[in-house]
Amino acid sequence: MSRNRQRTNIQQQDNAHQQVPQPHIPPQQDANPFGLSFVVPTEIVKLPSFGRLYSQNSPLFGMEQVEVKSLTAAEEDILINTSFIEQGIVFDKLIDSIMMTPGVTADDLMDCDKIAVLMTARKTGYGDIVNFSTACANCGAEVQLDISLTKMLEESLEEQEDTDVDWEYLEESNTYSFKLPVAELEVQIKLLTPEDTKHLEMSRAQKQKLGLPFNDTLEFLRAVIVAAGGISDRSQINKLVEVLPAADARKIRVVHNENMPKVKSTVELQCQSCGHQDTKEVPFSLGWFWSD
Ligand SMILES: [Zn+2]
Repeated sequence: MSRNRQRTNIQQQDNAHQQVPQPHIPPQQDANPFGLSFVVPTEIVKLPSFGRLYSQNSPLFGMEQVEVKSLTAAEEDILINTSFIEQGIVFDKLIDSIMMTPGVTADDLMDCDKIAVLMTARKTGYGDIVNFSTACANCGAEVQLDISLTKMLEESLEEQEDTDVDWEYLEESNTYSFKLPVAELEVQIKLLTPEDTKHLEMSRAQKQKLGLPFNDTLEFLRAVIVAAGGISDRSQINKLVEVLPAADARKIRVVHNENMPKVKSTVELQCQSCGHQDTKEVPFSLGWFWSD
């Protein structure tokens, strides 16, 4: 009986609520005299990593896209901040200023995803086309080229179908498996996450401070080798790393770097004077925000 009564009460309350006339609140963007929308538009950035390389405790684990807001005058201020530029943190400050996806900071993003966010920021603030000029390698004439950021970002998301590879991707462990050319051991390696990179940088700084040697290759191998010859015991792998032949170490680095997702940074160009065709490397830089 009491349950019925409660239900009736709730219903009555609901009805009462519905009958209260709702005052009409005009949306905020209509409340300015400039005819500008006060709501800054946002843009989705598809991540070249597809969220695959993040560890489970990263906010980006499994995340295929993030949302950023368009560049405004506030970000223009960050881009011209000489202190940020000198400290090398101008891109991170910019990313943190426009990031709309909760819990994600520049610190969490791996390089390729950072570049995708920055290219999108350039697009929203200053347009899709970036102009370059370069000298033709054949005749020396000036070659103009226009780069579409949208096109470049789309091409970075295309999965390369490499058929001629001697490694295998194991989806369940998110590792790459292959045979070392000299030791002839089967190894499984993972790609460095942003946390791994940070950890390596910290231990390098710490050892330098203490005057201890830091070997980049050894530390890199320790960080990426998940298993070797079916053994995943860390102390055994650490010992193996010390005696690993140089050619095997190089093989591991090559497979690692080949599989690290990247933002496309080359463009095809053709000289208008002599017809010479070339490929030009155009890595993302701060200058992209100034060129038009
Ligand atoms: Zn030419």
